[in-house]
Amino acid sequence: MQYKTVTAAKTKSIALVGHDNRKDELIGWCRKHRQKLAAHKLFATGTSGHLIAKQTSLAVEKLISGPLGGDQQIGALISEQKIDMLIFFWDPLAAQPHDPDVKALLRLAAVWNIPVACNQSSADFIVNSPLFENEYDKSVPDYRHYIHTRITGQ
Ligand code: PGA
Repeated sequence: MQYKTVTAAKTKSIALVGHDNRKDELIGWCRKHRQKLAAHKLFATGTSGHLIAKQTSLAVEKLISGPLGGDQQIGALISEQKIDMLIFFWDPLAAQPHDPDVKALLRLAAVWNIPVACNQSSADFIVNSPLFENEYDKSVPDYRHYIHTRITGQ
Protein backbone atom coordinates (compact mmCIF):
# COMPACT_ATOMS: atom_id res chain seq x y z
CA MET A 1 0.00 0.00 0.00
CA GLN A 2 1.24 3.44 -0.91
CA TYR A 3 0.36 6.32 1.41
CA LYS A 4 -0.01 10.06 0.99
CA THR A 5 -0.08 12.93 3.46
CA VAL A 6 -3.27 14.85 4.10
CA THR A 7 -3.89 17.66 6.54
CA ALA A 8 -6.70 17.41 9.07
CA ALA A 9 -8.17 20.89 9.64
CA LYS A 10 -8.20 22.68 12.98
CA THR A 11 -11.90 22.02 13.23
CA LYS A 12 -12.33 18.27 13.44
CA SER A 13 -15.23 16.01 12.56
CA ILE A 14 -15.64 13.72 15.55
CA ALA A 15 -17.75 10.56 15.69
CA LEU A 16 -19.23 9.60 19.07
CA VAL A 17 -20.62 6.13 19.75
CA GLY A 18 -21.55 4.50 23.06
CA HIS A 19 -22.93 1.03 23.62
CA ASP A 20 -25.92 0.90 25.96
CA ASN A 21 -23.97 0.06 29.14
CA ARG A 22 -21.51 2.86 28.39
CA LYS A 23 -23.81 5.65 27.23
CA ASP A 24 -23.81 7.38 30.63
CA GLU A 25 -20.00 7.34 30.59
CA LEU A 26 -19.94 8.84 27.09
CA ILE A 27 -22.47 11.55 28.03
CA GLY A 28 -20.47 12.34 31.18
CA TRP A 29 -17.30 12.61 29.12
CA CYS A 30 -19.03 14.94 26.61
CA ARG A 31 -20.29 17.07 29.47
CA LYS A 32 -16.81 17.27 31.00
CA HIS A 33 -15.29 18.42 27.68
CA ARG A 34 -18.32 20.32 26.43
CA GLN A 35 -16.49 23.54 25.76
CA LYS A 36 -13.74 21.90 23.69
CA LEU A 37 -16.16 19.67 21.79
CA ALA A 38 -18.41 22.62 20.90
CA ALA A 39 -15.69 23.97 18.61
CA HIS A 40 -15.83 20.86 16.41
CA LYS A 41 -18.39 19.09 14.23
CA LEU A 42 -19.95 16.16 16.05
CA PHE A 43 -21.55 13.03 14.59
CA ALA A 44 -23.08 10.17 16.54
CA THR A 45 -25.09 7.01 16.13
CA GLY A 46 -28.82 7.60 16.66
CA THR A 47 -29.44 6.88 20.33
CA SER A 48 -26.08 8.16 21.55
CA GLY A 49 -26.58 11.31 19.49
CA HIS A 50 -30.05 12.05 20.83
CA LEU A 51 -28.94 11.55 24.43
CA ILE A 52 -25.78 13.65 24.03
CA ALA A 53 -27.69 16.49 22.36
CA LYS A 54 -30.43 16.41 25.00
CA GLN A 55 -28.16 16.21 28.01
CA THR A 56 -25.32 18.49 26.94
CA SER A 57 -27.00 20.83 24.39
CA LEU A 58 -24.12 20.13 21.99
CA ALA A 59 -25.04 20.18 18.29
CA VAL A 60 -24.77 16.62 17.01
CA GLU A 61 -25.46 15.22 13.55
CA LYS A 62 -27.42 12.07 14.29
CA LEU A 63 -26.99 9.02 12.09
CA ILE A 64 -28.97 5.76 12.16
CA SER A 65 -28.91 3.83 15.44
CA GLY A 66 -25.85 1.56 15.68
CA PRO A 67 -27.55 -1.85 15.48
CA LEU A 68 -29.59 -0.63 12.49
CA GLY A 69 -26.61 0.54 10.46
CA GLY A 70 -25.18 3.61 12.22
CA ASP A 71 -21.76 2.04 12.80
CA GLN A 72 -21.56 1.29 9.10
CA GLN A 73 -22.56 4.85 8.26
CA ILE A 74 -19.69 6.13 10.37
CA GLY A 75 -17.37 3.60 8.74
CA ALA A 76 -18.41 4.89 5.33
CA LEU A 77 -17.73 8.49 6.40
CA ILE A 78 -14.29 7.45 7.67
CA SER A 79 -13.44 5.84 4.32
CA GLU A 80 -14.58 9.05 2.59
CA GLN A 81 -12.23 10.92 4.97
CA LYS A 82 -15.09 12.91 6.45
CA ILE A 83 -14.41 11.82 10.03
CA ASP A 84 -11.16 12.81 11.78
CA MET A 85 -11.49 10.86 15.01
CA LEU A 86 -13.64 8.27 16.73
CA ILE A 87 -14.70 8.19 20.37
CA PHE A 88 -16.15 4.72 20.64
CA PHE A 89 -17.08 3.47 24.10
CA TRP A 90 -17.85 -0.11 23.11
CA ASP A 91 -18.91 -2.62 25.71
CA PRO A 92 -16.24 -5.24 26.42
CA LEU A 93 -18.56 -7.12 28.78
CA ALA A 94 -21.67 -7.70 26.67
CA ALA A 95 -22.24 -9.36 23.31
CA GLN A 96 -23.68 -7.02 20.68
CA PRO A 97 -26.10 -8.08 17.93
CA HIS A 98 -24.09 -5.95 15.51
CA ASP A 99 -20.65 -7.23 16.49
CA PRO A 100 -19.52 -7.54 12.84
CA ASP A 101 -20.31 -3.83 12.38
CA VAL A 102 -18.34 -2.94 15.50
CA LYS A 103 -15.32 -4.83 14.18
CA ALA A 104 -15.74 -3.25 10.76
CA LEU A 105 -15.83 0.24 12.26
CA LEU A 106 -12.65 -0.33 14.28
CA ARG A 107 -10.99 -1.84 11.22
CA LEU A 108 -11.76 1.16 9.01
CA ALA A 109 -10.51 3.53 11.71
CA ALA A 110 -7.20 1.62 11.60
CA VAL A 111 -7.09 1.60 7.78
CA TRP A 112 -7.64 5.37 7.55
CA ASN A 113 -5.31 6.22 10.42
CA ILE A 114 -7.71 8.15 12.58
CA PRO A 115 -7.32 8.41 16.38
CA VAL A 116 -9.70 6.11 18.26
CA ALA A 117 -10.54 6.19 21.96
CA CYS A 118 -12.35 3.22 23.44
CA ASN A 119 -12.25 4.43 27.05
CA GLN A 120 -12.29 7.67 29.02
CA SER A 121 -8.58 7.93 29.66
CA SER A 122 -7.72 7.59 25.96
CA ALA A 123 -10.46 10.09 25.13
CA ASP A 124 -9.04 12.51 27.74
CA PHE A 125 -5.58 12.24 26.19
CA ILE A 126 -7.00 12.98 22.74
CA VAL A 127 -9.06 15.97 23.78
CA ASN A 128 -6.17 17.46 25.75
CA SER A 129 -3.62 17.01 22.97
CA PRO A 130 -2.47 20.26 21.29
CA LEU A 131 -3.29 18.48 18.01
CA PHE A 132 -6.97 18.45 18.96
CA GLU A 133 -7.41 22.06 17.94
CA ASN A 134 -4.61 22.41 15.42
CA GLU A 135 -3.94 21.20 11.91
CA TYR A 136 -2.40 17.74 11.75
CA ASP A 137 -0.57 16.06 8.86
CA LYS A 138 -1.27 12.37 8.68
CA SER A 139 -0.69 9.61 6.20
CA VAL A 140 -3.63 7.82 4.60
CA PRO A 141 -3.88 5.18 1.88
CA ASP A 142 -3.27 6.66 -1.57
CA TYR A 143 -6.48 5.48 -3.18
CA ARG A 144 -5.62 6.60 -6.74
CA HIS A 145 -2.36 4.67 -6.58
CA TYR A 146 -4.18 1.69 -5.10
CA ILE A 147 -6.73 1.61 -7.94
CA HIS A 148 -4.00 2.11 -10.55
CA THR A 149 -2.15 -0.88 -9.15
CA ARG A 150 -5.30 -2.99 -9.10
CA ILE A 151 -6.18 -2.10 -12.69
CA THR A 152 -2.74 -2.30 -14.29
CA GLY A 153 -1.13 -4.84 -11.99
CA GLN A 154 1.84 -2.48 -11.58
P1 PGA B 1 -26.80 3.85 19.38
O1 PGA B 1 -25.78 2.92 18.66
O2 PGA B 1 -26.11 5.11 19.74
O3 PGA B 1 -27.92 4.07 18.40
O4 PGA B 1 -27.26 3.09 20.58
C1 PGA B 1 -24.56 2.65 19.30
C2 PGA B 1 -24.10 1.28 18.91
O5 PGA B 1 -24.55 0.33 19.52
O6 PGA B 1 -23.32 1.15 17.96
